[in-house]
Amino acid sequence: MSLDVLVTGANRGIGLEFVRQLSARGDRVTACCRRPADATELLALGVEPVALDVTDPDSVAALRERLYGRAIDLLLNNAGVGVRGRPLGRIDYAECLAFFDTNALGPLRLVEALLPALRAGRRRLVVNMTSKMGSIADNTSGDAYAYRASKAALNMITRSLAVDLADEGIACVVLHPGWVQTDMGGAGAPVSVQDSVAGLLAVIDSLAIEHSGRFFDYLGQEVPW
Ligand code: NAP
Repeated sequence: MSLDVLVTGANRGIGLEFVRQLSARGDRVTACCRRPADATELLALGVEPVALDVTDPDSVAALRERLYGRAIDLLLNNAGVGVRGRPLGRIDYAECLAFFDTNALGPLRLVEALLPALRAGRRRLVVNMTSKMGSIADNTSGDAYAYRASKAALNMITRSLAVDLADEGIACVVLHPGWVQTDMGGAGAPVSVQDSVAGLLAVIDSLAIEHSGRFFDYLGQEVPW
């Protein structure tokens, strides 16, 4: 069954690779990014970029309007900002709020706005791209307050969504893509963007309602909260 998939942050990194691999296997992708005119790699793939800034309620409302009457099988909340460690004593509180706005509230805004489209979908799946850095249990190295806290908040938001949408059969999970070679992960990261996304898609394909409210990595291993 081919899927209608919406990807945020689709112009580069993991989001762009999702668009590549999903399109290659025949899924229909709505590829969202902040500046469609600059999304040259999406255009080169023959995919029309759709404007979306996940922090801007007007932008989210415009997307909802554009998708009125359409179905979304899989919502891939991939857009994110990070990691920039700022040591204790030099925390930038405005930056913390900006990270929270993008990484935690952005996916929540999208789910709220696109609920009618998700309800109309057959797959009924929301995937929020988190990080192991948002795992409280896994945090033994400290630092990265803004990024870690924003992803921990996303994890909690996802758990609430899973509870609230269970009766409608809409599954909501958080996935960790590995430490990936992107602008965010850096060239020295151990996982290629191709391998990360291939792994994530295999995990996504295996997900069912009983996996809702859970945290997995790109190899399908469950991650402690
Ligand atoms: P990336 O290369 O830095 O790309 C980030 C994407 O998010 C870009 O398309 C960016 O758009 C978009 N974005 C940022 N703010 C946005 C906003 N307000 N509205 C819409 N789009 C916005 O990062 P990545 O490595 O592909 O990461 C993708 C996801 O995986 C993120 O959620 C990240 O936290 C998570 N993750 C990555 C790693 C890793 O090692 N790379 C590890 C764990 C988790 P612009 O081009 O307009 O800035």
